[in-house]
Amino acid sequence: MDVIKTYGNILKNNMDNPDKVLKYLKVGYNLQYLSLKLKGDKNLPKSLNYLSELCMKFTLEPLKKPDRAAFVNIFTPTEFLHAFDMYPQLIEAMSSYLSGTKCEDGFIDRAEREGITESLCSYHKTFVGAAMSKVLPTPRFAITTTTACDANVNTFRLASEIYGIESFVLDIPYEYSKDGEEYVKEQLKEMVTFIEDNLKEKLNEDKLKEIILTENKTIEYHEKYLNLLKNKYFPNTVTSEMFKVFTTHPGMGRKDTLKFYEMLLKDIENYPELKPKKKILWAHVLPFYSESIREYLDCNKDYQLLISDMNVDYLHKLDVNDPYGSIARKIINNSYNGPFERRGNNIVKFAKELNADGVVNFCHWGCKESSGGTLILKDMLNENSIPMLSIDGDAVDRRNSQEGQNKTRLEAFFEMLENNGGK
Ligand code: SF4
Repeated sequence: MDVIKTYGNILKNNMDNPDKVLKYLKVGYNLQYLSLKLKGDKNLPKSLNYLSELCMKFTLEPLKKPDRAAFVNIFTPTEFLHAFDMYPQLIEAMSSYLSGTKCEDGFIDRAEREGITESLCSYHKTFVGAAMSKVLPTPRFAITTTTACDANVNTFRLASEIYGIESFVLDIPYEYSKDGEEYVKEQLKEMVTFIEDNLKEKLNEDKLKEIILTENKTIEYHEKYLNLLKNKYFPNTVTSEMFKVFTTHPGMGRKDTLKFYEMLLKDIENYPELKPKKKILWAHVLPFYSESIREYLDCNKDYQLLISDMNVDYLHKLDVNDPYGSIARKIINNSYNGPFERRGNNIVKFAKELNADGVVNFCHWGCKESSGGTLILKDMLNENSIPMLSIDGDAVDRRNSQEGQNKTRLEAFFEMLENNGGK
């Protein structure tokens, strides 16, 4: 019996009773949290088990304490929220977790019935459906940026209307300039005033500096881990790589995130010296539920899943003496902001640095960013003699998955890498 499917069906059958669904979700996630804490997965290193536990905690916090929660996207500068002891609720992650409980279709159908276009990215459609169903508790406010996709602003506007909460949108210039940095800095200051007015609390600047120091230490551990990954096999999974998005984005600056990277570094340092046959860099989101992709990449000593470029979209330390300026630079210079070439250059840079044999580019259904950039990325990788496979799918809505086709294409790609020596 598929327990998760049964659980997902119970959630879907009760969608007209949002309090009940939220209660069931919290019970389910709490049980999962306990099971991860007590048992974990014996095939994974300690650090990756801790990561699963941590992400469950990150998901539960805003559900349990909505009065200290804010809806955010992955580029929202959550350092400020941590300084106010707020819990960011990353909307894309919430959709992934709903997909993990196999009820995403119920929320997507609800959003479409209410007039949301079918072609909207399923991360947004699932979240909008959950918001329309009022399954997610009312947070304090919402903060987003204009980075990467235009879905962000519209989704946040709609969510704030549904919940009757205020929202703040950071308008991010496409290209970096000194004026652009000042423009974002001013908006960050306005955002802090917005939070202060809402919470009736003052920002503790010393706490913000402490958070930045924690973030910098985290980046240091992450860089050291990547440096060892260049020449050594280390277990990874499709789900763990998605979980890392929590730690490289909304969880950045938290002590528990720092602990994860410290553990990860220790684990790779102590891991036996093994060399994978081929190493793959993943571009964009990963469909964590896809059996065919997991079969190839989860803890596969022959085909190492290195990283997703989402987790290295801005790997630079912040200036503790200039928090606003350095956070403004971080958002503007993120590889997902601006022209696609910037992201392409970052993928090429990490593919070279980590000695990747190939890149798999995932075109998430409804994402103009990923499908629009595919040919540009292919050309850029070609110029550097790095083979690329582009596959289509949906990282949230299982109904759009292309299991059979992706399995065949991955098989052929790996065979090609083996036959031609990879480069
Ligand atoms: S997958 Fe694409 S469309 Fe969806 S949230 Fe991410 S960037 Fe936006």
